[in-house]
Amino acid sequence: MQISYAEWVCPECKTKNREACNAWMYGSPIRECKACRSEYLDSRWREVAIDGFDPRGKNAKFYAKGALFLLAIAAICGILIYFQYAKGYYSMKIIAAGALSALAGIACGINALRIKFGFADKDNEKYMAESKSRLADPQYVEKLRKYGYKV
Ligand SMILES: [Zn+2]
Repeated sequence: MQISYAEWVCPECKTKNREACNAWMYGSPIRECKACRSEYLDSRWREVAIDGFDPRGKNAKFYAKGALFLLAIAAICGILIYFQYAKGYYSMKIIAAGALSALAGIACGINALRIKFGFADKDNEKYMAESKSRLADPQYVEKLRKYGYKV
């Protein structure tokens, strides 16, 4: 659902690779360099059938706390802007910080609700199914073992 990016430098040809990933980097830890096609282990990726899900990804409280914290910052910015405006000036930095905190707070709140109402579980089921289908390939499992995974 959320799009994040993972960046890494190929150990063979030093090319900087940039890949879209989900927020928790669920996917194969064996990556391929787009420039020289060499394979490389990136242990930041979680092969969920082996590594399990990131515990924060199921923790609605983690997001709810984040949402409250960010909305509190947004509220403080709002109060500052109000007092500044009353004195006849305002700071774009504080307005931007307030708007960003409010948006991030809302995003956290939505995530908390998604987890609470089971939408996140649906996403996780999909990642688990993808992970299991990768592990159904004996060659892939062999590679993971070479990289030190206990499969
Ligand atoms: Zn490379």
